[in-house]
Amino acid sequence: MNWTLEKAADLYNIDKWGAEYFSIDAKGDVVVSPKGSEAGPSISLLEVIKEVEARGHSMPVLLRIENILGSQIRLLNETFRSVITQYDYKGEYKGVFPVKVNQQEHVVEAVAEFGAEFNHGLEAGSKSELIAAISMLGNRDAFIICNGYKDEEFIDLGLYAVRMGYQIFFVVEVPGEIDLLIERAKYHDVMPSIGLRIKLATQAEGKWSESGGESSVFGLTMSHVVEVIDRLLEEEMLDSLKLLHYHIGSQIPDISDIRAGAMEACRLYEELVKEGAPMGYLDLGGGLAVDYDGSNTNSQSSRNYTMVEYCSDIVESISTVLDKHDIPHPTIITESGRAIVAYSSVLLFNILDVSAFEPSELPKRIPETQNDLLENLMLTYTMVSEKNIQETCNDTLFYRTQARQLFKHGQISIRQRAIAESLVQHIFIKIREISKTMPHIPRDAQEIIKLVYDIYYGNFSLFQSLPDVWAIDQLMPTMPIHRLGEEPTRPAIISDITCDCDGKIDKFPDIAQPKKSILLHPLKEDEEYYLGVFLVGAYQETLGDLHNLFGDTNVVSIHVNDDGSYNFSKEIEGDSVEDVLSYVEYDLKAVRSRLKALAEDSIKKGYIKPRERKTILRAFEEGLRGYTYFEKE
Ligand SMILES: *Cc1c(COP(=O)(O)O)cnc(C)c1O
Repeated sequence: MNWTLEKAADLYNIDKWGAEYFSIDAKGDVVVSPKGSEAGPSISLLEVIKEVEARGHSMPVLLRIENILGSQIRLLNETFRSVITQYDYKGEYKGVFPVKVNQQEHVVEAVAEFGAEFNHGLEAGSKSELIAAISMLGNRDAFIICNGYKDEEFIDLGLYAVRMGYQIFFVVEVPGEIDLLIERAKYHDVMPSIGLRIKLATQAEGKWSESGGESSVFGLTMSHVVEVIDRLLEEEMLDSLKLLHYHIGSQIPDISDIRAGAMEACRLYEELVKEGAPMGYLDLGGGLAVDYDGSNTNSQSSRNYTMVEYCSDIVESISTVLDKHDIPHPTIITESGRAIVAYSSVLLFNILDVSAFEPSELPKRIPETQNDLLENLMLTYTMVSEKNIQETCNDTLFYRTQARQLFKHGQISIRQRAIAESLVQHIFIKIREISKTMPHIPRDAQEIIKLVYDIYYGNFSLFQSLPDVWAIDQLMPTMPIHRLGEEPTRPAIISDITCDCDGKIDKFPDIAQPKKSILLHPLKEDEEYYLGVFLVGAYQETLGDLHNLFGDTNVVSIHVNDDGSYNFSKEIEGDSVEDVLSYVEYDLKAVRSRLKALAEDSIKKGYIKPRERKTILRAFEEGLRGYTYFEKE
């Protein structure tokens, strides 16, 4: 069988999860096409890496492709617009980007810039996010939605923004908030636009199903809603009640949950109109999912709908419910975060080393051992065949346990144990080879085959750069970004460089079930091997932590021009060792003087010579200023 680029695309499924933004070019490199692979220019990630390294930035690098973010905002807005026309819906669509999904200045700035054309606004869930949003948006036709628990200062900041002409919605999340809002509005003499966040009974499938449903910690119950309406009536402020909001969770894989949520919310919207509130805005929160595994199904890492289906189902559900009662169509707001930013970032890193699943050569003569352990293993090895594969699986696993036991009780030596180990590995490999041609592979053999993999050590920290992979088993598409014209032959898992055994990627998205290993290429002498983890733009950056004191990676943003050239629009140096030490409260001045004192003391006690002190202190100084990740000489 000849290897082809099509086979590579199939193996990594890039044409599915890549959403036309990522594909493989004729050279076998992964290319990025911010306008889709048909329409616009494509640039090779390997070329970008070379340019980045030439500028002095080491791997790992988080690469942001600005225009992909722009393309996603455009896709969301244009799809809603065309669906609205198609259904003759009378309201408009206005999206907001929830700052919490990626708060980085450059990302929020890009949202404001690319969103300007569509008056795409921002959603803030805290004072910090609100200040960021107010300072970055600069568009008075776009909305700012204030969610989250609000103290007096939060409310005041929002009210000042209203005074400056911004369109702010204050969403009441807990009943107690309304009194404070009324009081501050009166104090500032500003008429606020008020929204209510409600708890829906609808509960979506998926990882975040807890954020919706009646058990959700967020939002008002029906009796709370009635209380708030009564309070507003008392104050003659019901005129400011304009928006209804709900959020049933992120990454909702099933379109029927999205429909059910919209229908349920509309019933309540109808009631609020009947109560006399002016309303006019329905905010459906986030949930628009990303197809991480490319399966287009209702699995947790996917979604069983397209953007067109998402938008049409929302528009159709709203008009179906409200038309029955002649209620004017509201402006539709959604707070899509993940779907807007996930595609625009790729984590790029090099492989530092491989621990291959390669058993050592067997000795010519098998030494005698207790219970004939090695003889039996050798016999099993020679006997593996299609016919007795089940039996050999059982035997091998039995002898493997026996070897461990005998060693523990001092009945075999370390050398004998090593031979046993490599015999077991030889058998595993033989089982794998033989089963390749078998139409039906017994379950035990399948399990054994899964144990045959190499460990590729990647220059990154899972905890810093892919926290969701660690914490909630999020699947992210992962693959080599070059050499795709060569057949990858090594089944592998990827380990990071923290010394934590959880710091590994050993689940890879696949159509049916996640795979336990992926095929990679053997390393070449004198050539770096680069991998990319894709669709990492949502949630990963600020959730990451300083495990083992690996800090922020270098971040590079590129803007792809129509003629196929690209500019480095931002380069942000990652954390130095000095930076991460200061994050954990080290006083760097004191660290330096302690190192100096230690070196001086070492001279006095005769450990080192005075001129070594200079070399040593210089090395520590460079260490403090250096990148926290593995750097090439
Ligand atoms: C997190 C969150 C969002 C974003 O959801 P996505 O699924 O990422 O689009 C939107 N609204 C609220 C209230 C949220 O908490």
